[in-house]
Amino acid sequence: MEKESIKKDVIRNWKQITQENQRGTWTIFPDLCKGCGLCIEKCPTQVIYWSEHLGFMGTPAVKTRIEGCIVCGLCETVCPEPAIRVERKAKEKVPPTQVV
Ligand code: SF4
Ligand code: SF4
Repeated sequence: MEKESIKKDVIRNWKQITQENQRGTWTIFPDLCKGCGLCIEKCPTQVIYWSEHLGFMGTPAVKTRIEGCIVCGLCETVCPEPAIRVERKAKEKVPPTQVV
């Protein structure tokens, strides 16, 4: 299965917890987390931490302190499972300055 269709399958079929800030959204699929800790290690702002929810290996899944998340997507990139999804909000369009 291709990466995009895996993502669609995950979104349709697995429990997800989404958090949001001004920059975008951060979603964890806790049942798909295997507790490897890579996202915690690589997050540049150190906002990911262990949660009380157990993933499919019986190890803790992760959560984020969303207010400190810069929505860089690194955690999604390094995660060996499709357990994290990061979506940046589109920048608001600023109307062009009028020249008089
Ligand atoms: S998107 Fe970036 S800042 Fe936010 S939790 Fe993931 S690695 Fe950390
Ligand atoms: S990198 Fe993925 S599998 Fe590993 S702890 Fe983070 S969310 Fe879980």
